[in-house]
Amino acid sequence: MKVTILGSGDAFGTGGRFNTCLHVEAGPERMLLDCGGSSMVALNRAEVERNGLSTLLFTHFHGDHFGGLPAFLLDAQFVSRRKEPLTIAGPAGIEHRTLHALEAEFPGSSSNPWRFPVTYVEVTPEQPVRLGGIDVSAFPMVHDERAGPCQGYRLGFDGKVFAFSGDTAWTEALIPLTAGADVLLVECYAYDIALANHLDYGTLAAHRAELGAARIVLTHMGMNMLAHRDPLPEERAHDGMTIEL
Ligand SMILES: [Zn+2]
Ligand SMILES: [Zn+2]
Repeated sequence: MKVTILGSGDAFGTGGRFNTCLHVEAGPERMLLDCGGSSMVALNRAEVERNGLSTLLFTHFHGDHFGGLPAFLLDAQFVSRRKEPLTIAGPAGIEHRTLHALEAEFPGSSSNPWRFPVTYVEVTPEQPVRLGGIDVSAFPMVHDERAGPCQGYRLGFDGKVFAFSGDTAWTEALIPLTAGADVLLVECYAYDIALANHLDYGTLAAHRAELGAARIVLTHMGMNMLAHRDPLPEERAHDGMTIEL
């Protein structure tokens, strides 16, 4: 499995970073994990073949994770001229949220007769699924239920596990999410400011021993975290970073 971090930023483009978007390669399978508002720029810059992506999987419905989906779909329809089937997967409500986002961003577009087959898949913590060849399990995160359910995921392929928190405050669910994972990509919005809806580094470090991942990479860093340049035991993500596992 290879994960390329196309977008490692927060919601506001802090540090010139793109919104959350991960390109996952697993054998012949190509998946995007989140597709934030700036992701079409990130995909074009990285020259990702859009029609080669079989699945888009979402952690929650904030614009910096989900807001790029309408442009992705319209690009598939009118620019990339997609013919290949597309799976849009995410928390409960994924189909309704997609149509709502299309209508909000491009009024009238939700009734497009797509030229390619679209399948919606709800992924819940109770029901692990296989998307393409990737085993996907969801874990309930604590972030903002207005944009939820908010979920983290374990992606399993070929004996390797990649765990991603999405956006979350500290929750005990991070423990099973990360147990035995080869890599954990975890949000770390701030360094030393406690926030209700996000993790800060101090909280993460205090729970470090409970996180069972072999390798930890911090992402979704806001100004307060980016300003902290001291060496840390964990790696820090950047746009274009690749993770092989
Ligand atoms: Zn976010
Ligand atoms: Zn969010």
